[in-house]
Amino acid sequence: TRTLRVALLGAGSVGSQVARLMIEHGDDLAERSGARLELAGILVRDPEAPRDSPLPRELLTTDAEALILGADIVIELMGGIEPARSYVLQALRSGADVVTGNKALLATHGAEIFEAADQVGASVSYEAAVAAAIPIIRPLRDSLAGDRIARIFGIVNGSTNFILDAMDRQGLSAEEAQRIATELGFLEADPTLDLEGYDAAQKAAILASLAFHTQVSIDDVHREGIESVTADMISDARRAGYVVKLLAVCERLTEESGDAVSVRVYPALIDREHPLASVHGGNNAVFVEAEAAGPLMFYGAGAGGVQTASAVLGDVVSAARRHIAGGVGIGESARQSLPIAPFGHI
Ligand code: NDP
Repeated sequence: TRTLRVALLGAGSVGSQVARLMIEHGDDLAERSGARLELAGILVRDPEAPRDSPLPRELLTTDAEALILGADIVIELMGGIEPARSYVLQALRSGADVVTGNKALLATHGAEIFEAADQVGASVSYEAAVAAAIPIIRPLRDSLAGDRIARIFGIVNGSTNFILDAMDRQGLSAEEAQRIATELGFLEADPTLDLEGYDAAQKAAILASLAFHTQVSIDDVHREGIESVTADMISDARRAGYVVKLLAVCERLTEESGDAVSVRVYPALIDREHPLASVHGGNNAVFVEAEAAGPLMFYGAGAGGVQTASAVLGDVVSAARRHIAGGVGIGESARQSLPIAPFGHI
């Protein structure tokens, strides 16, 4: 069997689980990929830093250039824009297939990255970038490729859902709910990305781009977070038969004057009978409404190192299969450009 060299950039919550599973499940992955996946090295900032899950010390490196140049598949799990963007571009230009979970990067520089991939016939896979292990990217890109998607809406940020859920079901204040979310690891040390809706907006931009075959960036998304949601608002909503959820809505508007896309993130009132009302804790749920398929629902854990690693490894196996079949990339840069509507009609 052939051997493919895999470079892993980042060994944090997700990267360390990817490394562990690659080492523990090496034989299974080889069987499913048709090639042995050799973990060639793991890029970190500090190889000596203490780590929750032990990784082979000899694989840890700070030399990004050498690691990327020798790789057939590069997995980017560092997060942030730079140096992740430069490393991903470098990997693609050297002909490697890229797997990433980096929603911030794709929601700001997606167009540049897909174009770089298409220029060399390499692939970029990012199932982990939206709703962790819940398969949503591949269903949109592949399973529903023959259908027309009208609308996607749902809960794509587990941290804010945990907070709103704790306020609703336990009657907590926003501060108390945030404190517990931080203690349980649902909220980062810097919670603004979650609370102000940026994380959800990044995911909405990625979903809308894919579903409507266009290029939506984070700047195109109308965004309101949950900073101003109070315990009183939640209890008023509860009395009226509603629950407050941070919703991401991606909609294709068909007007006489032509098509447009509306993408927005905001705290919405959800009828307590609606399935979204029973999405509790850190879970995510995404509804897809397609012309022929009708309504579909995707549900599961919205974050977590090992859960997200599952999505990453699925992408790695696909990339390996494509690599050994001599397949070309996905062709995502060949998208139309639809105008962005400022607001939709719900
Ligand atoms: P972490 O912050 O836990 O880990 C980041 C890793 O990248 C660390 O190992 C760090 O090195 C390394 N790193 C960061 N910057 C550099 C740099 N400049 N040079 C070398 N190494 C660097 O992130 P996560 O694992 O939580 O997330 C990774 C990606 O996955 C992000 O894009 C995130 O959005 C995405 N994601 C995460 C989910 C989750 O549940 N955590 C869910 C879905 C997606 P060191 O260890 O030395 O500090």
